Amino acid sequence: MFGIRILIYLLGIALVIWILLRLARGQRQRVEKKPTRQVNDMVRCEHCGTFVPRHEAISEDEHYYCCNQHRDEDR
Ligand SMILES: [Zn+2]
Repeated sequence: MFGIRILIYLLGIALVIWILLRLARGQRQRVEKKPTRQVNDMVRCEHCGTFVPRHEAISEDEHYYCCNQHRDEDR
């Protein structure tokens, strides 16, 4: 029974390390995302002319659209 105990112990340690790595990775992504987000970067919808933030716009071949419907209609 000694072998099984060691196995469960190692699995527990592996699980804790995995959770800590996931948490660390998640925090790093959140920190890296912040500077790239530009609030005033607006792009114009090629279909209706509405200005939308670049991070919310749908882009295709250097063209931007305010929604999927307008992208599909402009094809
Ligand atoms: Zn549009």
